[in-house]
Amino acid sequence: MVYSSEAEAPVRQLVEALEPFRALRPGSTVVLKPNIVLSRRNWLGANTRPEVVEALVVMLREHGVQEITIADGSGMGESATRAFSICGYDEIAARHGVRLLDIERDRFVTVPTKSAGPFRELSISQTVARCDYLVNIPVIKAHCQTRMTCSLKNLKGVMPPQLKSGFHGTDLERAIAQLAELVRPDFILADGAYGDLRSELGGNPVNLGVMAAGYDPLAVDVFAAQTLGFAPREIAHLAQYARFRGLNLPSFRPDLRELNRSAGAQSAQRAQAEPLGSKRYRCSIEVGSVCSTCYANLQFALERLSEQRRLQPGDTVRIGQNAAGAAGEARAGGAAAGGSGTDRRPNAGGRTILVGDCPVREHRAARGSQRADPARAGGGGPSSRGGATVEIEGCPPSADEIVARLESHRTPQRMQKLDDRR
Ligand code: SF4
Repeated sequence: MVYSSEAEAPVRQLVEALEPFRALRPGSTVVLKPNIVLSRRNWLGANTRPEVVEALVVMLREHGVQEITIADGSGMGESATRAFSICGYDEIAARHGVRLLDIERDRFVTVPTKSAGPFRELSISQTVARCDYLVNIPVIKAHCQTRMTCSLKNLKGVMPPQLKSGFHGTDLERAIAQLAELVRPDFILADGAYGDLRSELGGNPVNLGVMAAGYDPLAVDVFAAQTLGFAPREIAHLAQYARFRGLNLPSFRPDLRELNRSAGAQSAQRAQAEPLGSKRYRCSIEVGSVCSTCYANLQFALERLSEQRRLQPGDTVRIGQNAAGAAGEARAGGAAAGGSGTDRRPNAGGRTILVGDCPVREHRAARGSQRADPARAGGGGPSSRGGATVEIEGCPPSADEIVARLESHRTPQRMQKLDDRR
């Protein structure tokens, strides 16, 4: 994976590291399958960014590949043909001489499924089924039904419209796993520069600032789940797909390599954060100078913790450099009490949650301790407000680590280790 919100540079970095195109020949037929769910202007966080697809086209051309098709079928009520024009895929096709295919207009082949589930057979785009090389280019984002979507769920776009709607009237998660057994991409590149916080249809894009690639859809989707704040086993279609493959998801560990240094080492990426939405979360948030991925991870973690009602009124979250005492964005009980959200009264007795190495380091320095104290790091100590201090190390800590740490802290008698949770 690469920390970046750009397109061309991280795609090149990932392709050069993994060399997915080395076996391709000039006559190879290659299909690029982005996620083009929306054919409206407000598609950021929902659709694969066209510049990511273009970067792949350029690299394929550098490998001499001539036959390239960009193919997808949009979501219900949307049109890939219209989306190609709105999102800029038409220009890419014209610039590079590649073909655009609205899969809903393609022919389909019927293939028997391999494992038990709602379907005995599935119809798949003929172009996808017959190509020499399939590149899956999903978005890392939340999904209102399956909780998250990435490479496995993105495959739904290769089917005819009636079958796509049929998926939603049945055991959707198992059906996704059945489809994923039939359509195995040769390479996956997941666009996580902007992922939607709550829905596959966009509206709440968050600057996650990551891109991940690999050959195994399960590995990429496990990374995506953790990036969005989920334990992979919470995602039913991942668990089902792992079972089909005879794998035990809780013990499945992707071989994850970071190809650049974490956002923390890149001062150019450091930016003041956008407000999180002061009244959405039941906590105060003190934001210093924070990296975009760190802040996005916190945002996804807070969303998950809010869904599970695991934030405690009175909690104060501190993130970024020099966050202590910074302007709070939200405060506990602000919305419930009808407060303004700018009231920064200390939350007596609440936890102080330090997210990331920056506030943890500052907190320890302030306490006269430059070295990590494992006992304190594990259990937290008293805060200036009289409540516990919870230190969540990492640069940046992932969203699932933040969630797991706060879950285990809330119920110390269960004190699950992060590995157990995963
Ligand atoms: S802890 Fe977070 S804010 Fe601090 S340098 Fe690391 S990623 Fe950036």
